[in-house]
Amino acid sequence: MAMSGMSRAHAATNVDVIVIGAGISGLHAASLLNEQGAKVRVIEAQSRVGGRLLSLRNLEGAPEAGGDSILGGYGRVRDTCAKLGLTLNDFERRRGADKPEIAIDGQVIPRSMWKDHPLNFLPSDRKQEFPGRRSFEKVVDQFNPLVSASDWIEPNSRKFDESVYSFLKRHGWSEASIAQNYETNIGRGSSAHDCSILTWYFRRAWDKIQTDIESVALKVEGGNQTLPETMAKRLGDAILLSNPVVNVVANERGVEVRCVNGSVHQSRFLICATPISPLRSIKFDPGLPPPLAKAVALLPSMMITKIFLNVKKPFWQEDGLSPAMWTDTVAGEIGALRQAEGSDRVTGLLARVRGFPTQRLDAMGERAAGALVIAEYEKLRPAAKGMLEVAAYKSWTKDPYARGTWAEWEPGQIHEFLPELIKPTGRIHFAGEHASLANRGMEAAMEAGERAALEVLGRL
Ligand SMILES: Cc1cc2nc3c(=O)[nH]c(=O)nc-3n(C[C@H](O)[C@H](O)[C@H](O)COP(=O)(O)OP(=O)(O)OC[C@H]3O[C@@H](n4cnc5c(N)ncnc54)[C@H](O)[C@@H]3O)c2cc1C
Repeated sequence: MAMSGMSRAHAATNVDVIVIGAGISGLHAASLLNEQGAKVRVIEAQSRVGGRLLSLRNLEGAPEAGGDSILGGYGRVRDTCAKLGLTLNDFERRRGADKPEIAIDGQVIPRSMWKDHPLNFLPSDRKQEFPGRRSFEKVVDQFNPLVSASDWIEPNSRKFDESVYSFLKRHGWSEASIAQNYETNIGRGSSAHDCSILTWYFRRAWDKIQTDIESVALKVEGGNQTLPETMAKRLGDAILLSNPVVNVVANERGVEVRCVNGSVHQSRFLICATPISPLRSIKFDPGLPPPLAKAVALLPSMMITKIFLNVKKPFWQEDGLSPAMWTDTVAGEIGALRQAEGSDRVTGLLARVRGFPTQRLDAMGERAAGALVIAEYEKLRPAAKGMLEVAAYKSWTKDPYARGTWAEWEPGQIHEFLPELIKPTGRIHFAGEHASLANRGMEAAMEAGERAALEVLGRL
């Protein structure tokens, strides 16, 4: 035991770097360090790798319960797939194949009647647009002050950081319009009050970069989970599964990581690559610096529950409507999955429930929640009666090792928290999707993993 002052228990490993979390962020960090000759160990809580990448391989075409689309500008993700010999298939055309119906207040409103419909609360100059996020994003694009996405973290962007609510109010949106067109099937945050408009400026500038590079929505053949699985295979027995970390003890000589099963692991450096909320369950000795501890404690995560539905018969051929529907019910936005190889056939429906309605469903339990989602859909579409059954249910908020889908920034948090979340403390470095400066989603996870690996390499 080289590290006096730490555990007297037998240490299971003594390596250069321990990485906590075998999502693509942690695996990318571990792979880069491994390539440079460092001895690494990845400690993962679950019995599988991949974290927020979860492909439902028991359903046709292995639809994604977690991270879905790999976009044009995902340099790190695409490069890693190429190096590992993984095939990427483009679903962009199929993604836009359905024109969703508008279902509000218990009725499906024909598109031809939408513009002048009394339930259309869009601002008067936007009445002809589809309700919800797409219309909101057009306003963001119109007023986006960022020249490039990464400008969001520049000091002079701080002045743009206000709530979505105050941004929309400044641009003349009514309460009813905000409730219908921002807070229904909410894109980010859980209300217009708790979401920063700066995240949207960033998001839309970043989206543009993605499509400017190449307008694609790629998925890994066999499911996106194949990517972390192949990365993990390369790392061999450096990966330790089913080992939730509960305690990290660090001093000037090294780091000791303790797991719930009592195993103890030592290393010279540590990379924490868990999502932000599960990080709260790890006890750090000594405690994290107060500004970082505050960020870890307060940064919220987006709430999303996905319910996959099997379809017994294509009932939309009977009622002549699209299988996809944008609803103001607890069933959220329902899309048609087209996952079959070489065919555009509908392979199932997917209800994406976002924000507060997920809490109602999650509190009911999966069986009752699934039944409610189907009942809401059937109420709107009598032809669907008896035609749907739940194929899979995934609440990301209830997943103890995710506790949400991705970090969401409240007004004021970006400039206060992000610099803290990427700063090493002693021998501990931080990765994970939330610790990225210039990307989102899977690419953000890899960007953060790469940064943390380079920081540690410079110290080995
Ligand atoms: C519903 C949904 C849709 C998404 N859509 C997209 C999309 O279309 N495009 C896109 O690019 N991205 C998307 N994402 C985001 C993308 O999936 C994530 O950004 C990315 O997978 C995060 O990788 P990560 O390694 O940072 O975290 P994770 O994948 O969450 O990995 C963290 C790992 O840490 C482990 N862990 C947690 N606590 C502990 C502990 N105490 N001890 C040990 N291990 C622990 C977890 O089990 C997990 O394996 C989506 C995510 C979700 C959930």
